Amino acid sequence: MKFKTLDINPTKENKRKEDLETKQAKCLIIGSGPAGYTAAIYAARANMQPVMVQGMEVGGQLMSTTEVENFPGYPEGITGPEMMEDLKSQAERFGTDMQWGMATSVDFSSRPFKVVVDDETEYHCETVIIATGATAKYLGLESEEKFKGSGVSACATCDGFFYKGKKVAVVGGGDTAAEEASYLAGLAEKVFLIVRKPYMRASKAMQKRVESLPNVEILYEHTTKEITGTNVVTGATLIKRAGEADAEEVKIEVDGFFLAIGHKPNSDIFKDFIDTDETGYIQTVPGTSKTKIPGVFACGDVQDKTYRQAITAAGSGCKAALDAERFLAEQE
Ligand code: NDP
Repeated sequence: MKFKTLDINPTKENKRKEDLETKQAKCLIIGSGPAGYTAAIYAARANMQPVMVQGMEVGGQLMSTTEVENFPGYPEGITGPEMMEDLKSQAERFGTDMQWGMATSVDFSSRPFKVVVDDETEYHCETVIIATGATAKYLGLESEEKFKGSGVSACATCDGFFYKGKKVAVVGGGDTAAEEASYLAGLAEKVFLIVRKPYMRASKAMQKRVESLPNVEILYEHTTKEITGTNVVTGATLIKRAGEADAEEVKIEVDGFFLAIGHKPNSDIFKDFIDTDETGYIQTVPGTSKTKIPGVFACGDVQDKTYRQAITAAGSGCKAALDAERFLAEQE
């Protein structure tokens, strides 16, 4: 039997397999973002008695977002944590069994599928819905941590609106950075695009687009030393040509600082059983949530590198629950 283990607590001795408590689940949902909660609402209403393993950060990426103004149904907007609480309550109302904990290993080699939670409990599952999301990459600066949620963001579509008429910076040289800089250019007065190399990695078309925008200034060969401000972001200190003899410090004044240096899909523990692309996004049958293992489905950001919005994640969660329901009906 093949188990892939994610060691979340290396000091704790993993329990022997025979010591694990065993539980059954008709539908186990791993992850508690908009995709997971929506899957839970649909699965619970379809009488699949879903069990949700909520993960380390209950509510997912939206827990670190302030206002959400683009999720239909909230005309006045809502904070990310409040919205996730609403989705959770809705999933619970129909009987979703919410479990604290982290899926630490899986075995999808045969049905029932096995999912170990916190190295304590082994779920035997008729279907599994993976909704583990993705984690935005950050530079790792102390000042970045300090201003997360008050000027530092990894999602221009979510937070760009708050910088209407202001100055912002975007870090990154890929398609996401080019796209986010172009999006922000439509809102902000000025956008600095900070690219660490002398060229961008983004597609030619995206580069052309961003270069043609009059209020975008591309700072090639610049890295970020520090994000500055007291309570909110007011600027950043950059280094031009870091490590070279002619390296120099450059200061910019900005109100918002956006990271667009990539995302890491949370798919590591599944990789021995299901296909992922070269960056780790789970591959699903186009237009569905089906992975290559019948009975295992994936939804939300862990399988979507293009849209990555709360509403698209929720939509894909709905698809996953419907796919799981149909799968179970076919089995019966
Ligand atoms: P990428 O991995 O393509 O690009 C990341 C960028 O961030 C690179 O320019 C990289 O620099 C830079 N970077 C990484 N770490 C640091 C750091 N510590 N400091 C400064 N810069 C850093 O990620 P994307 O999110 O842009 O794209 C992911 C995938 O999604 C790609 O395949 C992309 O094509 C695709 N995508 C497609 C879109 C579309 O088609 N509309 C839209 C968005 C994404 P360096 O180049 O020096 O390594």
